[in-house]
Amino acid sequence: MARQRALVIGGSVGGLFAAHLLRAAGWEVAVCERAAGHLGDRGTGIGTRPELFAAMRRAGITAPASLGIDVLGRTGLGPDGSVVHEVAVPAVTSAWSRIWRPLRQALPDALYSGDKTLAGIEQHTDGVEGIFADGARLDADLLVAADGLHSSVRTELFPELAPRYAGIVAWRGVVAPHQLAPDLHELMFRRMVFGFPDGELLLSIPMPVPQGEPGERCCHFVWFRPADEAALTALCTDASGRSHGRSIPPPLIRPELIAGIRRDAAALLAPQLAALVNGTAQIILQPIFDLEAPRVAAGRVALVGDAAFVARPHVASGVMKAALDAEALADALAASSGGVDAALQRYNAQRQPYGAWLVERGRHIGATIADRKADPTQRIETVMREYGAAGVVRDQPIAARVTVST
Ligand SMILES: Cc1cc2nc3c(=O)[nH]c(=O)nc-3n(C[C@H](O)[C@H](O)[C@H](O)COP(=O)(O)OP(=O)(O)OC[C@H]3O[C@@H](n4cnc5c(N)ncnc54)[C@H](O)[C@@H]3O)c2cc1C
Repeated sequence: MARQRALVIGGSVGGLFAAHLLRAAGWEVAVCERAAGHLGDRGTGIGTRPELFAAMRRAGITAPASLGIDVLGRTGLGPDGSVVHEVAVPAVTSAWSRIWRPLRQALPDALYSGDKTLAGIEQHTDGVEGIFADGARLDADLLVAADGLHSSVRTELFPELAPRYAGIVAWRGVVAPHQLAPDLHELMFRRMVFGFPDGELLLSIPMPVPQGEPGERCCHFVWFRPADEAALTALCTDASGRSHGRSIPPPLIRPELIAGIRRDAAALLAPQLAALVNGTAQIILQPIFDLEAPRVAAGRVALVGDAAFVARPHVASGVMKAALDAEALADALAASSGGVDAALQRYNAQRQPYGAWLVERGRHIGATIADRKADPTQRIETVMREYGAAGVVRDQPIAARVTVST
């Protein structure tokens, strides 16, 4: 019998996990990525759980020593720099590029096309056709949409669905050891450090350097601040007065905004955290969205990763969710005696409730951060304990764990 063929749209982490795991399940795969160059310089630090490394091993990648670093626990600092709370939540963090690179290297070049933009799809009763901007049309038994938050496949399937702006932006930066006073290294490169300006959160997370020797550390910070739609538009307007919509390339952020953030850091944050904001070479602005698809499969299309659901970064699970979606899809296809359609029903039944739950969890942590009426001690304890990937899989909804018969 001819091998079945999957067209994977998007060559980021979700697409690469899907490609590896479908190949391992006996499928022929072709990955089509819009970006012409490689994606390895993208992204900053990521939270992990053992499930992510298990998915890497299943994809045939033996986790190199450089993949993750251990984080000893969590420290909360008051505005004067004193320790206000500590919780023992050990973790392993990684960097986005440390996950993407080995996934890409392990996939034969013949199966990955860059500069290949999907322009549309046509579904048939027993297959699907991808139509590309270069005029090519490719047939497949299954199309895996791993094309991210602004997925054009999802928009074609659910035109009314759009990412919802959460009313907060994240100011982010990466800080290398030479950008930080040596007496701060032990704290910043070994522990997650939290600061709680009124209704806001600044979080610093150790991460492996994106490229370099195993064990080399840096850290990245994320400062969540409220900004309504009008404020977001103003933040995304460059010095020439041109509006870039709802995001802006880092070099175009107006210098007075960067100066303002550095000034606010000195006024509102513990000196140890202000040192991060002032030490970083480049500050990035990222508006926070969430998105919840009503289904993660339709016809011969499966949505994986951010194309299906985007939870706020407070759950630190985007990469892991993309990996687990790909695993669930490969398992459903391998287990289904009823063919691709039945497998996609099973996939939808397993992953839709999980994605919805993750989005809700992100909103819950976001609401706790923003809750100015809450008892401050309780608020700090809740955020420091619940933040991130910890507990995410253990607490997932029953529907995501049970085997659904087809
Ligand atoms: C502030 C912040 C902090 C975060 N922190 C973490 C964290 O700690 N841990 C974690 O796990 N996650 C984190 N994330 C989330 C993580 O970055 C994403 O969840 C993850 O990259 C999703 O992978 P993906 O493959 O689904 O989508 P993406 O990485 O968005 O990739 C989609 C790909 O599809 C391609 N594409 C798009 N359209 C087309 C088309 N028409 N044709 C062909 N190709 C196309 C794009 O070029 C892109 O390469 C964070 C996110 C934010 C915003």
